Amino acid sequence: MRMFALVAVILSLATVSEARPRRHGSTKKRVAVDTPARREITSTKREPTVRNRDRSIGAPWSGRLTAPARLPRGEGYVIRRPARAFGTRDTVDHVHDAVTNTLEAFPKVHVLAIGDLSAESGGQITEHHSHQSGRDADLGLFYKTKPAGYPASFARATEANLDAAATWKLVWELAKTSTEDGGAQIMFLDYNVQGIIYRWAKGHDVSAKRLDRVFQYPNGRDSATGVVRHFPNHDNHVHVRFKCRDRDTSCR
Ligand SMILES: [Zn+2]
Repeated sequence: MRMFALVAVILSLATVSEARPRRHGSTKKRVAVDTPARREITSTKREPTVRNRDRSIGAPWSGRLTAPARLPRGEGYVIRRPARAFGTRDTVDHVHDAVTNTLEAFPKVHVLAIGDLSAESGGQITEHHSHQSGRDADLGLFYKTKPAGYPASFARATEANLDAAATWKLVWELAKTSTEDGGAQIMFLDYNVQGIIYRWAKGHDVSAKRLDRVFQYPNGRDSATGVVRHFPNHDNHVHVRFKCRDRDTSCR
């Protein structure tokens, strides 16, 4: 018992020492702010919710959600099923930050498809095993040309069609939260699609250290390395799961 308590203390200390400030706007690179095609980001206002009352209860595959936050509508992205745009405050904020930061850095990309988060009270929803406790989100990818049927449907990514630069930005914006309380726990993306983004990033001055932190690729699709892991049927979107907040004691 005492050993367990010691381990718990060490773990909580580790979490605190790794915690970083949520906001990262000051270091953000501003790209092409003068281009006439620049999209005005009008969605930076967050819907008011009572802070710190949201609760993720149980596990992503057997859980529910109370006092949720809701991903606001915004320019540059389409929430495919608004009734499934609920999550914990962390989930909603991290998704919103990642998407708006990416759209700001890549003002000419096509509209982004936002898939399901959770239902307002969580619980089982069709087409998903998880997404029950407000900690999961499915996000579409960026393509060189907007695929037919997108953003109503996701589109399979290939070396030929993927906009690897914008997709890398989106993946990194999500993955870099993994050191925070309530940040990304794991992300699911097809191994071959990881490879497309990895090769692009490696050729564009992204450090080996950062790539190792983000991707399982090239260590094999069963390797337990990186925030982003292979999962079947994830070659057309990325699934991100966020960690339980320390304060959220019913969250598993
Ligand atoms: Zn999913």
